Amino acid sequence: MLPHFDASSYELTGYVPARNYINGQWCDPTGEQVEPVINPRHGKAITEVRYAAPADIDAAVAAAKAALPAWQALPIRERAQIMYRARELMMRDLDELSWLVSHENGKLFGEAKAEVLKGIECVEFGCSLPNLAASQRLEVSRGVQCEVVYSPLGVVAGITPFNFPFMVPLWMLPQALVGGNAFILKPSEQVPLSALKLAEIFTEAGLPDGILNLVQGGKEAVEALCDHPEIDALAFVGSTRVAKLVYGRACATGKRALCLGGAKNHLIVVPDADIDVAAANIMASFTGCAGQRCMAASVLVAVGEVDHIIDEVARLSSEMAVGETLGPITTAASEARIRGYIDDAEQRGATVLVDGREQRADEGGYWVGATLLDNVSADMPAGCEEIFGPVLSIIRVDTLEEAIALENANPYGNASAVYTTNGAVAREVMGRVDAGMCGVNVGVPVPREPFGFGGWNDSKFGHGNITGWDGFRFWTRPRKITTKWALQSDANWMS
Ligand code: NAD
Repeated sequence: MLPHFDASSYELTGYVPARNYINGQWCDPTGEQVEPVINPRHGKAITEVRYAAPADIDAAVAAAKAALPAWQALPIRERAQIMYRARELMMRDLDELSWLVSHENGKLFGEAKAEVLKGIECVEFGCSLPNLAASQRLEVSRGVQCEVVYSPLGVVAGITPFNFPFMVPLWMLPQALVGGNAFILKPSEQVPLSALKLAEIFTEAGLPDGILNLVQGGKEAVEALCDHPEIDALAFVGSTRVAKLVYGRACATGKRALCLGGAKNHLIVVPDADIDVAAANIMASFTGCAGQRCMAASVLVAVGEVDHIIDEVARLSSEMAVGETLGPITTAASEARIRGYIDDAEQRGATVLVDGREQRADEGGYWVGATLLDNVSADMPAGCEEIFGPVLSIIRVDTLEEAIALENANPYGNASAVYTTNGAVAREVMGRVDAGMCGVNVGVPVPREPFGFGGWNDSKFGHGNITGWDGFRFWTRPRKITTKWALQSDANWMS
């Protein structure tokens, strides 16, 4: 059993080393590399993680294969019972899980709790799968019946990023497990601890050994998962650069793959927008989780005379206090990258309306305060690349037509939003922006369960959404069964 993670404040709290979990046993990864797991608020290690070697992936696949027949023999309703029990255990451990997320990722406790609750919502969706997957059956001709049943794929894998250590694995696990697969999860090496708890909760909920395995590590472990001939499908969530590599590599070995990448989300604001609604939502979108969300606002496209709204966003931004209303940046490298974008934009002529570079909290750690850059152009790195920090770049245009063209010229397609009180403007933007998840007066337009999460263009490689019903379809394949038991006396040529 893992010990309780007993933090109840932001005070630095140590925890157990991250290990592999294979066939229901904790075991040490066999790779050479060992890295600290840092609490970003303090910039100090809370534990360490040793990386898995390809032999560990082989062991996980072998355990998964051996466990599969008994798991697949269970009716889907019995597999879904695990989700009901896991949900209750997650609610029981809500505070512990939230503090663990907060300590390994850095996000504020409230943000961490929201993440855990959103993960639980994904588990609740998993409970509903037996009803959604109820077989479709039709007498297609006299005496002939067709039926669709969803069969598991086999051994499958998931690779997850640093920004949602608890929720993103739960974008995958309910559908894959209830669908009858055995899973190998490779969490981010920067935040490997929440996944330990996930493995233990699912085991406590009754998941058989070998059905959920955990391997730690980075690139080498991911490549071994992509290359393994006995892994049938793989989902990835992370940056576009790696999503593209992983998609190509997994598909090259014949796997089914769905790889979600990065983003550059545009919020379009027009003069008739409600000032309070717009400003509050824009703030939440670009500063929530310190801007480290694939759905975070990155560009504010200011159409015409909207200075009253920009002034309000600037006022609210300057009131943000790192350590209190804005959490730390997860790694030192990310902090340096974000600062680099701000410095570069300033050198290229952007105006730093609100400067978060001087802000630091007392505990040490990695920080950037809320930063507002005005007069950015789309060809500046701050105007076209993913910054992944609490920085909002304002690009000014004269018309809605220009705003839509600017959004659509960006290669990403995760999220897009418009702030307006005019239904015709909202309808025009929602009908034309080239993004998979769109919002009207909503800064973070995440489709909640049962609606599927997934962007377009360079924000996703592969078909379909990762959550919702699409997720179940991704981790299963439909078997079409046609049945005839007797010759019909009144048979026609299709019987
Ligand atoms: P990342 O791409 O660096 O890492 C993601 C995973 O890939 C990790 O598990 C990591 O170990 C592994 N990895 C890293 N480099 C690799 C390589 N060269 N080869 C194989 N595997 C490798 O992403 P991150 O920094 O952990 O997460 C932030 C990124 O994730 C942002 O770009 C963000 O937009 C994106 N993200 C996207 C979504 C979405 O739904 N589209 C959701 C969350 C995060």
